Parts: sequence; structure tokens; C-alpha cells
Amino acid sequence: MSRYITRLRVRRTYRWHGAPVGEDRKLKRLYHESMTISVEGRTENTTVSLGQYILIEGEDDDNPFVGQLLKLYNDDSGKKKTAVVQWYVRMCEIPQTKRKLLCRDPHPQEIFYYLDHSCDNEVDAETILSPVQIEYVSPEASFPEGKSKDILFVKLLWDTKTFRALSSDRMQPPLSPKSPPPSSRGPRARVLPTPDPTVMKRAVSGAVTWGSMSTGKINSEAESLHSASKLSAAKALSARRRSRATSGPHVRKKLDLCSPSKNMTRDDVLEEILDEPKGAGKTLTSKLNTSPTGRISISIRLTPLKEPISPAAQENDEESNRTGTPSRRKVSTALKEPTLTALAEEDHEDSPVQTDATPRSKRKAAQVVSSRIRKQLNLLKNKVDLQSDGEDGEDDDDCFLPAKIDLQSSSDEDAEAKIDSEDELVVKRRRGSRTPRSTEKTCTSARTPRKTPNKTTAPATPRTPRHATPSIPSRSAPARKPGNVLEEARARLHVSSVPESLPCREQEFQDIYNFVESKVIDGTGGCMYISGVPGTGKTATVHEVIRSLHLASEQDEIPQFRFIEINGMKMTDPHQAYVQILQKLTDQKATPDHAAALLEKRFSAPAPKKETTVLLVDELDLLWTRKQNVMYNLFDWPTRRNARLVVLTIANTMDLPERIMINRVASRLGLTRMSFQPYTFKQLQQIITSRLNRVKAFEEDALQLVSRKVAALSGDARRCLDICRRATEICEHSAGQQKGSGLVGMSHVMETLDEMFSSSYITAIRCASLQEQLFLRAVIAEFRRLGLEEATFQQVFVQHQALCRVEGLQPASVSEGLAVCQRLGSCRLLLLEGSRLDLLLRIRLNVSQDDVLYALKAD
Ligand code: ATP
Ligand code: MG
Repeated sequence: MSRYITRLRVRRTYRWHGAPVGEDRKLKRLYHESMTISVEGRTENTTVSLGQYILIEGEDDDNPFVGQLLKLYNDDSGKKKTAVVQWYVRMCEIPQTKRKLLCRDPHPQEIFYYLDHSCDNEVDAETILSPVQIEYVSPEASFPEGKSKDILFVKLLWDTKTFRALSSDRMQPPLSPKSPPPSSRGPRARVLPTPDPTVMKRAVSGAVTWGSMSTGKINSEAESLHSASKLSAAKALSARRRSRATSGPHVRKKLDLCSPSKNMTRDDVLEEILDEPKGAGKTLTSKLNTSPTGRISISIRLTPLKEPISPAAQENDEESNRTGTPSRRKVSTALKEPTLTALAEEDHEDSPVQTDATPRSKRKAAQVVSSRIRKQLNLLKNKVDLQSDGEDGEDDDDCFLPAKIDLQSSSDEDAEAKIDSEDELVVKRRRGSRTPRSTEKTCTSARTPRKTPNKTTAPATPRTPRHATPSIPSRSAPARKPGNVLEEARARLHVSSVPESLPCREQEFQDIYNFVESKVIDGTGGCMYISGVPGTGKTATVHEVIRSLHLASEQDEIPQFRFIEINGMKMTDPHQAYVQILQKLTDQKATPDHAAALLEKRFSAPAPKKETTVLLVDELDLLWTRKQNVMYNLFDWPTRRNARLVVLTIANTMDLPERIMINRVASRLGLTRMSFQPYTFKQLQQIITSRLNRVKAFEEDALQLVSRKVAALSGDARRCLDICRRATEICEHSAGQQKGSGLVGMSHVMETLDEMFSSSYITAIRCASLQEQLFLRAVIAEFRRLGLEEATFQQVFVQHQALCRVEGLQPASVSEGLAVCQRLGSCRLLLLEGSRLDLLLRIRLNVSQDDVLYALKAD
């Protein structure tokens, strides 16, 4: 298929074609039937209408997404145009592991009807590229030969688990090219007058020979028979029931696939409907027949209503809908939707549980990115137009402005945004798509509120939602692209950016990989304890191992396994670990005690076909409890014969297992240990060089200086990256004032080090007495021993005395020690427990350990 011209090359303008055809006052939406797309530099415009197959911009220019246009609407501001589509997927969008289920090579032009009820089918209408032609091929028939490369064929449906034969009735016939444009149609008897968008499906009409579908110029008015969004299928059903209840038994409309009634061509049917006196209030009973040749016929029975429906009557009916009074309008409404609800119901029933959501995540991510970029382009275009100084707007394509923050987010969406399956996780990672889903979701602000649409009607006084999930406002504009080398370097050195490789951790990577791989292959369990000071790449290495193992299992090199992760830092209470593990394993919610009991049972019960679970427990130190039950269980579960559980624990303290197993048999647990050593200066240098990946932003000696400084203090790669990033900022800032190489030099690094290590605290440490400095050293020594950031005076005092002896000083008495501690507390270098001054006084540092070490070393 040819390459599609997308956002990178042309600018498109989208306008509604004709007046709105319906309104949803509750949701403040205006529904349209078609939209005109003008492409910059081209004279002729394209119109896309409901029912048409369309290409939608995605991340792959060669393979845009394919869908069928079901609805078009804009919000009350009139700015956001939204389209509801039925998705079709290409083979390349289906997870690699599942492709073999097709059991044959896909046809190069083949696509699949995508059946996934959980898939979001609303897209920014301004990501629509153009219409596309799709031909239905019956499952037994072979693909037509000699057709244009731009035609796509659909034969099967993909329900995220299997490929199945697609019956032609699932596909909505595109509308007649002969049908008149909206303006020539007179009063809109079949337009969408009710507030419920799912009831706004109109009777459709059309028999079509799929092979002869022409989508190029379709410009029809009638709305789709199938145009219920999958998300609103349930709503459509209930709407149908409601309307049946109010409209009485004489109001019928059904889909009968076997009825031998009148055979018509699609155009005939359309014409017949359209030729009826407008607004004559006919009820439509359509019957769709499928002949063995794949030809579909629809029979339509028209039952006269008492009077035509006027727009005024529509208004009244909306009113009566609100007041609950049955009215004639409701009758006509009911007439217009059952066929589609029948189909929606059918879809709903035969769909299996959906777990494999890869195309959905891909679509969402790509859609969100596309729509953001498009917004920015429009914004820029407007700016350029306003300035009208003849600047070439094309040049601005890559320059994005930050836009207003979109604060919209809901717990519902967050829940939906969860990565449902391992497949999706793997694919997301492989694609490098690491944006939190919640961020993506917030962009689809035009989403139909599915379960409780009335909640969206703004109440008089805003109430705090009961299950509100706090969230970080999402970025509504794409991050600005790096404009120069320094910016590029800064982006690459950011701790949140995932490095392409992890130099200097090859051995650790291999050891952890071998450990987990062997357990997964043998179907056994085990526990590995990984320790090391902060910033030594523990988390990064384990994540890389899991990513590689997922790839291996995708390629059937190792059996499938399940990966779940918890982090002690993200828990309010250590016992929450049970709750989170259970929820991630089984989706069950339980109290900590109940969850512990359920997990105990799960890991003890025999289940021969169970897949291995790999559990990563990061920041294990924080799961410290008085009885140590949480940690003990984490080490104990993998030893159960039937558990098939591999636990990878990460902590800062080396001897945590020994300390918690004090009364239990630690050796029985057979822990495999791994210790991550602090990086040496050479390693840090290598890490930065590899992250910069040939972006020349630093002078050689500047890099060496940073690496040496950090290696001397802590060997913390995170700290090293922070310093380098700040140095690029200082360099950029000073570039305007001084002439230089433009690269980060020694002076910039020195300035950064001064800035980062020259707070008043550091001055205070430097000016402190020898005993005070020793006490601070003792605090750090004790923290490191404990692996915690808190210790009692007694513990620190023992260290202090030892240090005094090492330094050849007279060890201080307890009261002297307390006085020293108090002085350090009063100048806020230490945080002390306010109410006591005794041996059990708890002590914390109020500055980072690095700062203390830096201040003391610099002496
Ligand atoms: P903590 O104990 O504080 O959790 P950690 O040992 O888990 O620290 P990581 O989070 O893995 O440290 O690493 C800190 C940062 O340093 C991350 O941004 C990571 O990408 C980077 N980093 C660490 N080691 C390497 C390496 N070998 N190569 C490239 N980047 C690294
Ligand atoms: Mg970590």
C-alpha cells in the first residue's frame, strides 16, 4: 500500500459538511453526518460520511489504522470533533505470538474486523486521513486478484483471542453514493432527535454486493444500522427496552436475516426510504437477508404513524423524555434503533472475555499523540494566519507549543487504563511506549460516559467524587523536541528516560536472567535477594531482565510466565503488600489479613498446570514490620513445592534476610544473593557516554570530573546523571554571555558541584566541631548498616564511640553525645524526635548523605 501523507507533511483542515443532524443536550453534543477534509495545497476536498471506511492516522505512516465511521459529533464548544468508529486491524497490529493462529499467510491487503468490547472506539475526528475502500470476501472464497493495491479485503474477524469467520452482516454496508446530499433532503424525519446517543441509530437501508463497494465518493445521509458503538451496546439495549415499554407493542423493528422478503438493491432501498413523503412518520421494519452469494438484501416495511414528526415535535419529545411522559416522539425513536441493538447484543454475547488489548493500546497511544500534534499544528497555523506576514507555516511543523493542561481524569478511566495483559505489557515495552496509560486516556475527553451518562451533566454544586483517584495532570501538548545538542543530551541523561543498554551491569544481568530463566523452564520457584546502595542500577537491571525474558517467551524459547511487581515505597503500610499481590494476581480485593490467607493457600495448593509467577519486590527494606511476617512470607512462599513462584527482592541493606530470620531457619530458605557494587569512576563515565550515545555535549575532562566526584562520594549513577543534566543547563545559560566550544566544560561542572553541594547546610557541616562532624559520620554509618534512614541515638552513639577510637579521640560520654546531637538538631542538620532526649531518641538526617560526605571530604 502506498505511503499516506500524514501530519508530518501536510496540514489538513476539517469542517462539518452541512448542518448538525441531531443534538444531545445532556452530553452537549451536536451530531453530524459528514465532514469535509481539505488538504493544504490541494484544490479538491474529500468528504467522509457515516458508514464509510476510513483511514485514521496512527504511528505508522505506511499502515494507518482502518475503521468504519459510525458517528460524528462535536462538543458544545464546537472545537473538538469526535468520531466513533468500528475498528479493523491489520496483521501487523496483532501481537506477534498470536499471528500464527491464522494458520496461513495473510493476504497483503487483508484486514480483520476487530471485535473487542473494551476497545475505545472514539477518536479525534481530525485524525481521519481519507476514505478507503474495503471489500468483504466470504470466508470460503479466495481473495480477488488483480485489484487495486489500495483496496483492502476483510474475511475474518479478530476477537483478540482467535480469528473467526466474519459474517457479512457484521459489516455495515456503506451508504449509497446516489443518495442526495443533506441539503436536498427536506425535513429530517429520520434525524437524531433524542438525547440518548445510542437511540439515535436510524433505520438503514441497503443491500450491497460487498465486492462492489465504492467508498470514494460516498456522501450519504442515512445512519448506520450497526452504528451503535460497542461501548454503548448495553446502553442501546436498555434504551430499546425502555422505548418498547413506553411505545407499546405496535412499534416494532427487527432484524431478520432469513426472511425471504423482497429483494432490493441497496440503492433501491435507499431511494424508497428517501422518496417517502418527508417526515411522514413511517415506522420502518427492515429485514436484512444474506444470500449464499454474499449478496445482502433488506426488506423494509413501512407502517404509517399517525402524523409526521416535525422538529417542534422533536423538541417536545425531548421535553417529555425528561419528564418521563411517553410521547409520540419516543415511539419514533424506538423505531429507529432496535436493529442495531440486536446486533450489538449479538456482538456482546458471542464475544469472549477480552484480555489481549494490544491494538487498543496502540491505537489509543497513537491517536492521542496524533490528536495532540494536530491540535498544535492548528494552533500554529492560526498563529501564522494571524500574523499573516508571509512566513511559511510548513517550517513550523516540528515546533510544538505547550498547550493548556488537560486536567481531565477519572478513576474509571484509570482503571480502564490498566495494562490488562502480559501481551500488552510486552508490546508496550517493545515499542518503547512508556507513557502511563492514564496520561494517554486523559486526552480522549470526548468520551461517552458509558455507565452513568447522567453524571456528566454538571450538578449545580460540584461534589467530590467518592472514589476520586488523585492524579498528576496530564500533558496536553507533546513534549518539545530537543532544539540543540545540550537539550538532546539533557533528555538522554534524564533518569526517567530508559537507557538503550545498561553498561557495567552485564554480569548482574546475566546472573539474574539465568536464575529466573532456569526457574521458569523447570517450573520450580526460588528467591533472589538483590542489594546495593542507591543508584546502582538494581531496578533498571531487573526490569531489563524481565523485558528480555518476555521477549524470549514470546518467541517460545521459554514457557510463558506471569510478572507482577510491587514497590515498598508505594505502600502506606507493609501489609498492603499482600493486598497488592493478590489484586495483581487475581484481580481480587481483600483486606490484608484475608489477602495473606488467600495467598498462603494459593502458594500451597498443588496446581500442575499453573504458569510460573515472577514477583518483583522493590524497596524491600520498607516492608519492615515488627514481626517481620511480610518479609518472611515473601522469602518463604517460593520454597513451597507447588508455588511456582520466583521472587526477586531488591533492597539497599545487605544483611536484611539475616536480620529478619533471626528466629527462623534462614538457611532453609536457600536465598540466592546478589550485590550491586557502587559504580567506579570509569563505570560512571562509561554509563554517561553510553547514555549520550554519540551526542557530543561534554568535554572529555568535564565528564571525568563528574564521574570522579560521584564515585568518590557514593557511586550513585542517579546522582551522576543529575549533575550532568544541571551542568548542561548552566552551560546553555552561559553560552549567550561567553564564547566557548558550546560544550559542557570543567567550569560548568565545577559550578554545578558548587551549586549542588554548597547549601548553608554544607557550610554548617564544614564549620561544625570535630565531635559534631564525627557524629554525622556515625549517623551515616549506622543508616548504611541498618539500610534505613532512621536510627536511635543509642545505635548512633555506638558508631560514634567507635569512630572516636579510630580517630584517636577520647570517646564521648552519653551526656556529651546527647549534647552534640542536640546541637546538630538545633541547626537542623538532624531531625530529632521532639519529646525526648534519651537513648531511644530517634534521629534522621535533614540533608542528603551525599551532601554530608561531600562537606566532610572537602575539608
Ligand atoms: P535505588 O536503590 O535508589 O532504587 P537503584 O539501584 O534501583 O536505586 P536504578 O533506579 O536502577 O537504581 O538506577 C538509577 C538511575 O540510573 C536510572 O535512571 C538508571 O537508568 C540509571 N542507571 C543505573 N545504572 C545504569 C547503567 N549501568 N547504565 C545506564 N543507566 C544506568
Ligand atoms: Mg530501585
